[in-house]
Amino acid sequence: MTDRADPAAPEEPAAPGAPAEEALTVASAVAGTSTTEAVAAANPLRDPRDKRLPRVAGPCVMVLFGVTGDLAKRKLLPAIYDLGNRGLLPPGFSLVGFARRDWKDQDFAQLTYEAVKAHARTPFREEVWKQLREGIHFVPGEFSDDGAFDALAMALAEIDETRGTGGNYAFYLSVPPKFFPVVVEQLKRTGLSDAPEGSWRRVVIEKPFGHDLKSAHELNEITTSAFPESSIFRIDHYLGKETVQNIMALRFANNLYEPIWNRSFVDHVQITMAEDIGIGGRAGYYDGIGAARDVIQNHLLQLLALVAMEDPTSFEAASLRREKEKVLKAVRLPANLALNTARGQYAAGWQGGEKVVGYLQEEGISPDSTTETYAAIKLEIANRRWAGVPFYLRTGKRLGRRVTEVAVVFQRAPHLPFSADDTEILGQNALVIRVQPDEGITVRFGSKVPGTAMEVRDVSMDFAYGESFLESSPEAYERLLLDVMIGDPPLFPHQREVELSWKILDPIEEFWATQGQPEPYESGSWGPTSADAMMARDGRVWRRL
Ligand code: NAP
Repeated sequence: MTDRADPAAPEEPAAPGAPAEEALTVASAVAGTSTTEAVAAANPLRDPRDKRLPRVAGPCVMVLFGVTGDLAKRKLLPAIYDLGNRGLLPPGFSLVGFARRDWKDQDFAQLTYEAVKAHARTPFREEVWKQLREGIHFVPGEFSDDGAFDALAMALAEIDETRGTGGNYAFYLSVPPKFFPVVVEQLKRTGLSDAPEGSWRRVVIEKPFGHDLKSAHELNEITTSAFPESSIFRIDHYLGKETVQNIMALRFANNLYEPIWNRSFVDHVQITMAEDIGIGGRAGYYDGIGAARDVIQNHLLQLLALVAMEDPTSFEAASLRREKEKVLKAVRLPANLALNTARGQYAAGWQGGEKVVGYLQEEGISPDSTTETYAAIKLEIANRRWAGVPFYLRTGKRLGRRVTEVAVVFQRAPHLPFSADDTEILGQNALVIRVQPDEGITVRFGSKVPGTAMEVRDVSMDFAYGESFLESSPEAYERLLLDVMIGDPPLFPHQREVELSWKILDPIEEFWATQGQPEPYESGSWGPTSADAMMARDGRVWRRL
């Protein structure tokens, strides 16, 4: 046992500024009276007509495989605490950690405590932590160890007895992808994947869902041999982001944009996810995978689907997925992949005032690796709405800054009744959905410059989440973990979407595999020159971000 302080009794005082009532108990939330929701209700920008109660999870256990990993510490454990703090967890909620270390419950509680302190979005409240702490358990073991999974089954049965969790278990596989099949097989062998009458069992799989169409299919075969499709939750955390869900609100809750959301008005669409960091300590995962498989196959193609799909008949999973599938099926690759795709690999450079090494010099990367850290592709959508409108997708590491956005760029006005001099610097209208950071929407349009001439130039109209709603958006993982516990699937991609996305990407990967080394680009720049050339051939430029 360690000599660390028991996190059940942290010595630090409660966060300054905590509300006087303090008792933000998990149980109180069930009645819809959590302090956080009360604070939200007091928000002057909240519509007083909104009387809906928050969605709250029913009794259950969350079993986290891979609790000592990066994702668990930075995102999952803090998100669970945040849900508790918002009063959205049920009384008796239990959290079971599984990893190789020879740990006791207390060690896992300590890890959780530290992760919460370091990364939780909401303020630390001792009362909430105490409630969560009571339900924390740890089961040590290797994924290949039958005995460890038998012990897990026993531990879960005991938790059901003592905490009233009713045999409802969510198994979250936050583990290296090669272990997905191993863990699923173990859950099947122990019978943990079979829900007794009146209870549920769900499995949560993190991306990547395979590394190509074939492996995605194989992974699905194994997973569906243990769990029914309705119990499989594939996490693409982008779908949990408020700004991504807002694409649907923007398009389908308004009448303003939909009439012009088509080939008659849209010139092209740019979807960008730029990171300013390198691969960090994730060489083992990233090398051989690369930017396109890591980001385009999932996040960017999901964004494309939401931007381009027809309106679903409802927000039910089946309707939403059907529309996304239809549009992914209609995606076409350009005939000439050499001219309409680009890939690069970051070289040394400067980032945030610091000198950084190139990809090939990163620890754990082979000096002749051909893995791309930047990828750009041009796609078209063969349907009535989008025929002839290019969708440009790009992603990369060690770029100028961290930003994810969707830019819908409109055609120029057919006629400008002004002198050419007065409109010389006028660009194209654009609607930009800023997914992160600075979440919001910007509309760019032409406006008269004050003065005596009829000079027109671009200005912006801005909607910023923080200003309009006065509260920080929940983290994507808060929303998605809650949806898993509630059993609400619309924000999780179906296997058919996963396979359609691999069908788009596989031919590009096969082509790139014949092309040798990707083009180097300087760290801190905006990517390889071939990506700019690709746009220039179409008479367009990437947006400057
Ligand atoms: P990670 O840091 O490598 O953590 C892996 C976890 O699995 C550790 O807890 C490790 O426990 C455990 N583990 C490994 N081999 C094991 C074995 N044989 N038996 C028992 N436990 C074992 O991985 P991660 O970055 O957290 O990623 C987890 C998953 O999320 C991956 O599928 C990844 O692709 C996906 N993902 C991650 C991120 C991210 O930001 N990190 C983002 C999106 C998706 P030990 O302590 O015993 O080593």
